[in-house]
Amino acid sequence: MTEGVALFGATGSIGESTLSVIAAHPERFHLEVVSAHRSINKLIGIIERFEPKHVILTDQSKADEFMEKLPKHFNGSLAFGEHSLTEAASATDVDVVMAAIVGGAGLVSTYAAVSKGKRVCLANKEALVMGGDLMMTEAQKQGALLLPIDSEHNAMFQCLPESYVVGQPIAGLKQLVLTCSGGPFREWTPEAMRQATPEQAVAHPNWSMGQKISVDSATLMNKGLELIEATYLFGVSEQSIEVVIHPESTVHSLVEFVDGSMLAQLGSPDMRIPIAHALGFPERLDLNVERLSLTKLANLHFEAVNHEAFPALALARQASADGGDRPIILNAANEIAVQAFLKERIGFTEITELVSDCLNQIDRQPISSIDDVLSVDTMSRHIADQWILERA
Ligand code: NAD
Ligand code: MG
Repeated sequence: MTEGVALFGATGSIGESTLSVIAAHPERFHLEVVSAHRSINKLIGIIERFEPKHVILTDQSKADEFMEKLPKHFNGSLAFGEHSLTEAASATDVDVVMAAIVGGAGLVSTYAAVSKGKRVCLANKEALVMGGDLMMTEAQKQGALLLPIDSEHNAMFQCLPESYVVGQPIAGLKQLVLTCSGGPFREWTPEAMRQATPEQAVAHPNWSMGQKISVDSATLMNKGLELIEATYLFGVSEQSIEVVIHPESTVHSLVEFVDGSMLAQLGSPDMRIPIAHALGFPERLDLNVERLSLTKLANLHFEAVNHEAFPALALARQASADGGDRPIILNAANEIAVQAFLKERIGFTEITELVSDCLNQIDRQPISSIDDVLSVDTMSRHIADQWILERA
């Protein structure tokens, strides 16, 4: 019997890498469910190649166009709309959920998978940033196995004993060291960044990724979101996490222990490596990826973050220290700001200005349910939209 995978966000960058790992291991996995939002042609290609049993198109407005293009021989089931993800996350034939939707849109389905005690491979970092406390409590209650896909968190996880359960305190931990490539503007001045175009921002030096995370990597908000993600996954406060710039993206992160030992995980910048690690865990899956040659690498570089040029990281650190609704506001305002920047409605450096202003403007709200999270998220998006309208 092979394991049934539900791949939410199959048409994205993580989706594509996941499909590649699944295709390489038909003895171990089959595609039970796939979802896409509106990339119909890509979805049709996936259906033809993988014959998933269940297909979800979350953007209902595309349903007619999709039905016209659907291959006649498709004999699986179809569903439309976001609520279909929640149902699929609970299906008994689903053993593993790969949460690869981008942004807050992935929160409810990821939480549903955790609530059903599934094995959840977590790429969708925004879901954890928004609902981290609730998600970790629920995972423990339901016995859901959470496995990090983000390369840095997957690296840290690989440095821990196999018996380590995500969310629990790490025995003998001194600190976590989160590496950061520095993004495409690492050596730019703040003045130059003010003029940066979307095209320049999405051109990441080492990784090929979706647009949103690429812009986040350019502002370093991605590292800020990852810092918050790490606090939940590894049961630490932000004070136990150091961020270090490492332009080569070869050392994916490190764990430092109280005895002075530092453990690291290295590899080519290829997301199939952490994806295969999480899908196969605790076994190792054979993978045809570029191998590292240590002699060719020769030199690896590490440097401190330039906080003046990249204020996003400090904003995220503060949001993490303040806790409660702050990470939700940070994430929502950032999502709106990134979309506005991609549409050239605001400038690159205005992304973090907008996030900072939203955090200052919004009064604290208590968070005790996913509905509370969603309501702060909606309100923050509204305030961020207003900010943009006032600037325009
Ligand atoms: P992407 O933009 O390439 O793909 C996003 C996927 O989500 C697509 O399948 C799309 O159809 C779906 N989607 C978009 N909006 C949706 C909505 N409103 N409702 C339902 N589905 C929707 O993004 P990506 O780069 O693959 O990133 C996915 C997630 O993984 C993000 O949270 C990102 O931070 C994280 N991640 C990505 C990488 C990477 O290398 N790409 C690395 C680490 C973490
Ligand atoms: Mg990462």
